[in-house]
Amino acid sequence: LKHPILIQGAMDSELTLLIQATAPHKFEQVGNFRFWKGAVADTPVVICKTGIGVINAAAATALAVQRYSPRCILNQGTAGAHTRALAVGDVIVGEQVCYLSSFSTERSRGEDPLNPWKPAAFQSPEGETISYHANEVMLRAAKAALADEPRVTFGCIGSGDLWTRDPSSLQALHDMHGTLCEEMEAAAVYLTANNLGVPVLSIRVISNNEGTGEPFDPNSALRAQELTLKLLSFLHT
Ligand code: SAH
Repeated sequence: LKHPILIQGAMDSELTLLIQATAPHKFEQVGNFRFWKGAVADTPVVICKTGIGVINAAAATALAVQRYSPRCILNQGTAGAHTRALAVGDVIVGEQVCYLSSFSTERSRGEDPLNPWKPAAFQSPEGETISYHANEVMLRAAKAALADEPRVTFGCIGSGDLWTRDPSSLQALHDMHGTLCEEMEAAAVYLTANNLGVPVLSIRVISNNEGTGEPFDPNSALRAQELTLKLLSFLHT
């Protein structure tokens, strides 16, 4: 029996095309979490609607890993740009994820636009590493699959329960963490997948750039799904 590839999206608009393309023969629902079992070529695929936000995404990922033992997890969807150099429609492949909902405060407020709320990396006193890394084999597959696509960047995805609008905050996040974009699920998905030993990769299409004023474009969700299908054909070989 072949292990399926798990594909995730947060919203219906990020899933409709994928559901169509994988011709599900079975729909399963656990509470609010929805799963569609289908296939591409002869590779079994489970599509999962995670819901929006890191809490939903963590639960959905753990549940899907337990239920379906996926060989890998492909997280995909939309994201907001963290730099003016990125435009709506650009593609970000998440080599790492930086978790942006972990806060520590300074003792005094300076001129920093993000003060007092500074995203901080978790660090246990024992020096335990917390990993938000993509799988190398999946990254190589993405490099091959997206080689002829314009405007693809491999790098760091910022992730947390946030939607940042102030251009100076976006710039500060980019400068501080090297994040290219922000979205609301990948941190939970990477952390859960890394903890459970399941290969993971997130690809995101820029849907809005608050820095340049480009508003949310729903077509970005379609592009993310098209690219996911393209990548799928490189992953199942
Ligand atoms: N504005 C959209 C709703 C998006 S809600 C609409 O009106 O339909 C946030 C979802 O989009 C999350 O799943 C997140 O992953 C993604 N997202 C897109 N752009 C984002 C941004 N600038 N900041 C945070 N999340 C963003």
